Amino acid sequence: MIQTEGTRRIAVIGGGIAGLSAAYELTIQARERHLPLAVDLFESSQRLGGAILTEREGEYVLDAGPDAILTLKPWGLELCRELGLEDEIIPTRDEHRGVALYSRGRLRPLPYGTGSSWTRKIAAYISSGVVSWSSKLRMSADLVLPRGGVREDESMADFFGRRLGREAVQRIIDPLIAGIYSGDPYKLSIYSTFPRFPQMVAKRRSILLSLLRAPQSTRSGSRTLPIFCSLRDGLGRLVERISERLDGAEIHPAVTVNGLRRSGGGYALETSAGRREGYAAVILAAPAWVAAHLLEPLAPASAAKMKSIRYVSSATVFFAYRRRDLGTRPRGYGFLVPTCEGRRINGATWITNKFTHRSPEDGFLARCFVGGDRTGEETQADDGRLVQICREELREIAGINAEPLFTRVFRWRDSGPQYDVGHARLIQEIDAALAQHPGLYVTGAGYRGIGIPDCVQDGRETARRLLQSVVA
Ligand SMILES: Cc1cc2nc3c(=O)[nH]c(=O)nc-3n(C[C@H](O)[C@H](O)[C@H](O)COP(=O)(O)OP(=O)(O)OC[C@H]3O[C@@H](n4cnc5c(N)ncnc54)[C@H](O)[C@@H]3O)c2cc1C
Repeated sequence: MIQTEGTRRIAVIGGGIAGLSAAYELTIQARERHLPLAVDLFESSQRLGGAILTEREGEYVLDAGPDAILTLKPWGLELCRELGLEDEIIPTRDEHRGVALYSRGRLRPLPYGTGSSWTRKIAAYISSGVVSWSSKLRMSADLVLPRGGVREDESMADFFGRRLGREAVQRIIDPLIAGIYSGDPYKLSIYSTFPRFPQMVAKRRSILLSLLRAPQSTRSGSRTLPIFCSLRDGLGRLVERISERLDGAEIHPAVTVNGLRRSGGGYALETSAGRREGYAAVILAAPAWVAAHLLEPLAPASAAKMKSIRYVSSATVFFAYRRRDLGTRPRGYGFLVPTCEGRRINGATWITNKFTHRSPEDGFLARCFVGGDRTGEETQADDGRLVQICREELREIAGINAEPLFTRVFRWRDSGPQYDVGHARLIQEIDAALAQHPGLYVTGAGYRGIGIPDCVQDGRETARRLLQSVVA
């Protein structure tokens, strides 16, 4: 970007997908609308991408953080297409479709895609054995329970407990939540995590009936895609491609922003590479607890509220096997474990069954997920111990005794935001308090959605809002 006297400098702090999306939107708008903008993106780590990290080990492709993009929210795949990645989008493997729950001592397949007929789906569910007969009876109350009035926010456990009963919360909702939020259904807000469910009740009265009608694929661009997709060579491709398209923006890897001050009519940054002056606006796209620390001297009210957004730590542990060593090939995409089973992992994904191009023909890649609100102490173990814990769990839960060809451990420290009850109101309050400080914006997984599509949308939307006020 050519800088002239009227050039507005904008800083983006954090090079995860939210910060990258914000910087990308700023650069394309600047190009298309001939705006005199100069964008600096600061990332404390050597690499861009934040939680999105793909590594290769020979023919194995390891998505260490996120491994799938939800297609029901269009913004992730839209960005992939815009970046010319359409041909690299891969669907989940239909032939292995299915997830199991570890319940009452063994893996039990969750009914999933068992045909389009309602009666078959209901029959599959009832015969799955995931919950007891009395719980199945209690769950069926959802079909007849009244909608109930509009409520203040409540926990997922309160909402689902009311509709489906306590056992369903413990054995179905809890493991599903751990797989997405690494969180505790007794603390997480139903409105900020899955607003779709209260909407279902308001519209159709019953969650079960709404789910039975729910599509298992999405029309996306010119294709019909399953609910989850990925990129052939891993989601790291999204980071590579978006960074290549930030032409004009200056990227500063391995530079940590330690302080934010007012300076003249704008903002100055204290960074590990020295002081940088003259920013008309700053987008804070680092985790909320980092952004809170930076905002404290300037916007203490917003900072105090941002500090109350809890983050949890997790780890992913990969196991590559020779397929013939496994004996029977594991079924489905993997399994999830309810807290009440008292295990030390939250679940495992059979990556080779979920996506193609992840392992050689004779190989099999598995990934265990540890940590979050409930198995947090396991993440304190060193790598060797963590691998040992996961191997023991895979043996006891899934009967896998094989010696892995290699293992890899990835740590995600304080990187999982928890949308506790009251989160939506908290975000409104943060936004209102920040509105008193023109030129300061926050974006990222801590606020309006943790998935890649949400972070892309929020990053881009934040950039658009900024442009409205800075270039107006
Ligand atoms: C193990 C795991 C599995 C997941 N699975 C999925 C999935 O399958 N699908 C999905 O959609 N989502 C998934 N998610 C969630 C999703 O990946 C994240 O919510 C999202 O990538 C977060 O993006 P972000 O830009 O908000 O934050 P981050 O990716 O955390 O990026 C923030 C960046 O800010 C940088 N930073 C921090 N402090 C500073 C500073 N002072 N100065 C400069 N830079 C700083 C950090 O280094 C980091 O790069 C998963 C997350 C994890 C951890």
